[in-house]
Amino acid sequence: MLFNIAIFLVFMIVLADMDGVLAWFDLGVNLKLAEQYPQVNIVPLEKRSTFYIQYDYPAEQAPLIQSIYMAEGFYRSLPPVPGGREGIEEILGAGHDVRICTVPHPNHRYCLPEKYLWVEQNLGEKWLDRIIITRDKTLIRGHLLIDDNSEITGAAVPEWEHILYTQPYNLGVKGKRRLTWDNWRDVLVELRA
Ligand SMILES: [Mg+2]
Repeated sequence: MLFNIAIFLVFMIVLADMDGVLAWFDLGVNLKLAEQYPQVNIVPLEKRSTFYIQYDYPAEQAPLIQSIYMAEGFYRSLPPVPGGREGIEEILGAGHDVRICTVPHPNHRYCLPEKYLWVEQNLGEKWLDRIIITRDKTLIRGHLLIDDNSEITGAAVPEWEHILYTQPYNLGVKGKRRLTWDNWRDVLVELRA
C-alpha cells in the first residue's frame, strides 16, 4: 500500500490510552444509565463537553454517574471504540511497538482486573503482554502517546509527543496534533514523512 509507506520508514514506540481511545467509556456510561436510570436525561455522546463525564450532569446527579462507573462489571463491559483494534493491529503489523498505556481508577476495586479482562476479550490475549499500568504517563518512554485527555502531567518532561485522540470534550483544545481511528494513517504519515 503506497499511501502507507511512510509509516514503515521510522520505528516508533506508540503508547495508546485505553478509556476514550480503545474502550468507549462514555458509551458505556450512557448504556448503563439508560438501562438502570431511565428517568435521567442522558447527555448525548456528541454533546459531551468536559473530560470527566459527571461534570456534564447537574451536581445532584454526579454521585449517580459515579456509581455507574464505580460498579463491578463496568470496565469489563465497555464497548470498543470502532476501529481501535484494527488501528493498533495495523501499527504493530507495520513493525512498530505498540503498548496500551492506562491509568486505572485509583480507588476502584474492579477497574484494574477488569481492564485486563477487557483487553483479553476485545483485543486478544497477545495484547495482555502490552499493557502498561501507570499513575504517571510522563514517566513512560515512547515516541507517541495517543490519548483523549488534553492535560497529561506528571513528574517528568515526557519524551513522547501527545497526539490528542479527538473526542467531543476536547474539541476546544488547540496546539496539538489530533487523530481518530478514521484518519490515523494520514496523521502518522505526516508525522514521520
Ligand atoms: Mg483516556
